[in-house]
Amino acid sequence: MNRFWSSVVHTLTPYVPGEQPKQTDLVKLNTNENPYPPSPQALAVMAKEAAETLRLYPDPNADRLKHAIADYYGIKSQQVFVGNGSDEVLAHAFLGLLKHELPLLFPDISYSFYPVYCGLYDIAYQTIPLTDQFEIDPDDYDIPNGAIIFPNPNAPTGRLLPLSAVELLLKQHSDSVVVVDEAYIDFGGESAISLVDRYPNLLVIQTLSKSRSLAGLRVGFAVGHAELIEALERVKNSFNSYPLDRFAISGAVAAFEDKAYFEETCRRVMSTRDQLANKLTQMGFQVLPSAANFLFARHPDRDAEELAARLRERSIIVRHFKQARIDQFLRITIGTDEQTQRLIDALELILKQD
Ligand SMILES: *Cc1c(COP(=O)(O)O)cnc(C)c1O
Repeated sequence: MNRFWSSVVHTLTPYVPGEQPKQTDLVKLNTNENPYPPSPQALAVMAKEAAETLRLYPDPNADRLKHAIADYYGIKSQQVFVGNGSDEVLAHAFLGLLKHELPLLFPDISYSFYPVYCGLYDIAYQTIPLTDQFEIDPDDYDIPNGAIIFPNPNAPTGRLLPLSAVELLLKQHSDSVVVVDEAYIDFGGESAISLVDRYPNLLVIQTLSKSRSLAGLRVGFAVGHAELIEALERVKNSFNSYPLDRFAISGAVAAFEDKAYFEETCRRVMSTRDQLANKLTQMGFQVLPSAANFLFARHPDRDAEELAARLRERSIIVRHFKQARIDQFLRITIGTDEQTQRLIDALELILKQD
């Protein structure tokens, strides 16, 4: 207890992000960053921005970026909200759209920031267990609720809910906001953005951190009916007028314009993912089907935390969650082909020992 703290601070349980080690020679496969650099075009416009306009405030509405995103997806710019990483967009959605009398529903195994926002904003919630195969079953959400949120593909499982099942949820819960957190959708899934014109209760959230290699820039966005977007704008403008700086706006616009580079790097990540999944399966791992830039896998004879520690000794970091149902799994980010080979070599050595 600290007498200078507000009572809220005493109750908070903050989110703990994956480790960002100071050591630079590690094979870093723990936080789902993209192994490829950002678009060269994005890097060039950001350098120019720094030289010319950094003394001026950025556009508080980031209109250029909203238009670029709207053009990219064939929607209107009033259907787009942008924020400082999708974590910030999520935070505003929790306060502005997901706080109701009835509980917010989300999967028991899911993005662990969701319960943290519920704690921060005092939001009632209930977790819905994934099936034994770690799938979301839309029927399990047939209970009274104030709103629903889930990542698609889910994190940290990587499993994709088909768009038809997302649509079923939207129909069955037409009085609830349904937020689909599509941080990993570009690695093989079909985005629910195509449904926003038909479902006024749908909000889709995406990020430039994973598929566009810009985790360090902090840009996320939401797409939905203009009235849902208005709720997010109200929260944002009660909190921070300038969440996106000049680098973020200009770099993000250029990243959307460089579609060829984006498609090529996504294709490479998916190809490496599918090869690694095969290899791990041959080595005896159970690998969940993944539509993301990571694999979720367990070895029947090896303790996951122990495996992670052995990999770490060999300068390879992967993510392990000390959570019921998944504490025997490792979440492995897809790296370059060279990093992936180092992982495979290390695992082969480790599995031969003992
Ligand atoms: C990485 C991730 C985010 C956060 O992305 P940022 O835009 O970097 O804040 C949100 N949701 C899920 C499910 C993620 O995995």
